Amino acid sequence: MARGGMRYGAGRPGHKAKDAQCLKVDVRWFKRAGMLAAEFPRTWAWSDPDTGERTASIGVRVAHGQVHLDFTSGGAPIAQRVGLARTACHKGGARDWFLCPCCGRRVAVLFFRWKRFACRHCNQVAYRSQSEDVCGRAWLRQSRIEAKLGPDWQRPKHMHHATYERLWQAVVDCEQQRDEWIAGMVSRLLPGGMNSLV
Ligand SMILES: [Zn+2]
Repeated sequence: MARGGMRYGAGRPGHKAKDAQCLKVDVRWFKRAGMLAAEFPRTWAWSDPDTGERTASIGVRVAHGQVHLDFTSGGAPIAQRVGLARTACHKGGARDWFLCPCCGRRVAVLFFRWKRFACRHCNQVAYRSQSEDVCGRAWLRQSRIEAKLGPDWQRPKHMHHATYERLWQAVVDCEQQRDEWIAGMVSRLLPGGMNSLV
C-alpha cells in the first residue's frame, strides 16, 4: 500500500455543508428591499425561524457597481466586496446577479462559510436533498428545536418564557405533521384505510 503522497480529499478544508445550515444572501432580496440602488449603508439581518429573534446582521452598501458587505466573524471585522452584474431578460426587464468574489461566476445566492461570502461551489455547500419528504423535514426541524431546549423539552434557565412557548408549540407541530404523514402512508397501504385499524 502506498504511503504518504496526495490522498484524494485529504487537503479539503471540510465536508460539504447543507444549504439550510448556512447564512446566505440573495440578490433578489436586496433588490426587493431597494438595497441595490441605495448608496447609503443599510443593515441586513437574519432571524431564527423558530423564535423570530435576530441572530446575525451585516452592513450592506452599494458603490461603483459593487456591494460592500461589512460584518464581524470570530470577533474580527471583515469587509468584503462583491461585484454586481445585470443581464437582460428576453421578456424585457433585467435580472441582477452577484459575481462570486472567489470565482467570478454570476450567481443569485452567496453563502457564508469560512469567514467569507461565496457561491455554492466555492464554499462547498450542498443542496438540500430533493428526496427529503415532509416527514424528514419535520424531523430535521424538530431536532433543530430540541437542540435549543433542555432534556425532555424543558425550558433552559436563560430562555424567555415566550420564546419557550413558541419552541414548545413548534415541536408539537412537528410531531403532529409526522403523525399525519404516517397516518397518510398507512391509509394508502391498507385497503380499508386508517379506520380499519380501530
Ligand atoms: Zn464561486
